[in-house]
Amino acid sequence: MKIVIIGAATGGMTAAAKIKRSLKEKVKITAYQKLAYPSLGACGLPYFVGDNFSDSNKLIARTVEEFDKSDIKVHVNHEVVKVDFVSKKIVVKNLETNKEIEDYYDKLIISTGAKARELPNIKYSLKNVYKLNQIEDAVALKAVNEKKNQNITVIGGGFIGLEAVENMQKNNNITLLEATPRLSQKVYDAEIGDLLKQELIDNKVNVITDARIKNVVIENDEVKKIILEDGTEVKTDAVLVAIGVVPNTEFLKGTLVKLNEFGAVIVNEKLETNIKDVYSLGDCALTFDRVTKQQVHVPLATIASKQGKVLANVIMGKNDAFQGSIGTSIIQVFEGQIARTGLTEDYVVANKIPYKKLFLNGVDHTHYVQGAKPIYVKVIYNPETKMILGAQIYGYNNSVLRINSIVPLIWNQTNYQTVRDLDLPYSPPFAKSFDIMNVLFGMLGGE
Ligand SMILES: Cc1cc2nc3c(=O)[nH]c(=O)nc-3n(C[C@H](O)[C@H](O)[C@H](O)COP(=O)(O)OP(=O)(O)OC[C@H]3O[C@@H](n4cnc5c(N)ncnc54)[C@H](O)[C@@H]3O)c2cc1C
Repeated sequence: MKIVIIGAATGGMTAAAKIKRSLKEKVKITAYQKLAYPSLGACGLPYFVGDNFSDSNKLIARTVEEFDKSDIKVHVNHEVVKVDFVSKKIVVKNLETNKEIEDYYDKLIISTGAKARELPNIKYSLKNVYKLNQIEDAVALKAVNEKKNQNITVIGGGFIGLEAVENMQKNNNITLLEATPRLSQKVYDAEIGDLLKQELIDNKVNVITDARIKNVVIENDEVKKIILEDGTEVKTDAVLVAIGVVPNTEFLKGTLVKLNEFGAVIVNEKLETNIKDVYSLGDCALTFDRVTKQQVHVPLATIASKQGKVLANVIMGKNDAFQGSIGTSIIQVFEGQIARTGLTEDYVVANKIPYKKLFLNGVDHTHYVQGAKPIYVKVIYNPETKMILGAQIYGYNNSVLRINSIVPLIWNQTNYQTVRDLDLPYSPPFAKSFDIMNVLFGMLGGE
């Protein structure tokens, strides 16, 4: 059997490694990778920009040579430009020679990830406009960061924008422009979004929400000023655009494979596309919300890597299926940390799901051990079904990992009354004898 993988990174290569470990010489695996390196751990890019480490090779999880040792052939600088799903052939362009070659597959994995969305009036081709998607972007942005005392405008208050702000703030003056009324509004409720905004303000970031761009002043191919609809003028030396991602699927448009309206590959829970022997996973594909069963796009490594293992089993003929996402994530912005899972209040309101909410605050451990910090827990729940719908925790010192006690409750649709007396751990440096999560579960349990 010959398996071809388009895009040699998280999703596809997790599948490749697992299949090869099991099937060994019974399978031939070839991966084509557009970039000069495979298996980028993009999650580390903001920390490279912030000089937490200086060797960008640390971001490469496995090299071509390491894959070679496992008998997986990775061709870097090779872009797949065409797929013929009828004859099971692909056309690949060698980006160094510009020559095109043809290859064939028995099974095809589309694992092309996603690229940074571009603004119509602030193009990446401008000299001082940056994105943060691959190593080359991070090297360029790190050079800006290291110039120091620059006025840097970050457009987009999502995960990548926030992590970049934190990593560039020490050296520079940062303005964060967010078009919606709250930061990361799709994933955080107002209570948590407000805490996040305050953390940024406390760290001297100029945060402008509801920031709708009216005009952009460009001179000599450089953005000099961004003028907002309310008349605010933001002078800038450099701009990072971080307004989300779009699937890398242009080469599939107009072919037999089904894409949704923004180009994500449509797959079932076995990660099969509408075409036999063609699979897709990770950032270029849709997945589904485990609770609502709605199709969702969750461009996170946590999803791509788990899907890779499932896909390996499916391709090897095992009865397996991906179990869905509940949108669990975690982020650090300066000292503040946020963990979240499940649905937001905006979502349940928009979808007319009955709900109640609790917003608790406390401290993360006993007052007599140094370093106790505030912790805030927001939970929305359905009082009719007794299910937790979503939860968000804001805190410090990793206290937000308490989200791990809520994730399985949403995942397994557990009646929250059954966890009223949940046996959570306690010792003075970690928690209070009656921890905020026990308080929460007690309240949900109708104490
Ligand atoms: C700055 C940043 C920070 C992040 N932080 C986190 C985090 O903290 N936690 C988390 O869970 N996730 C994080 N993510 C998301 C995570 O990196 C992605 O979800 C994950 O890499 C997706 O894996 P993938 O295999 O779908 O795609 P990718 O890892 O993007 O790999 C796809 C590869 O396919 C290549 N390719 C595209 N088109 C073609 C073609 N036609 N031919 C050949 N090759 C092609 C691409 O160049 C790319 O290398 C972050 C992402 C970024 C950019």
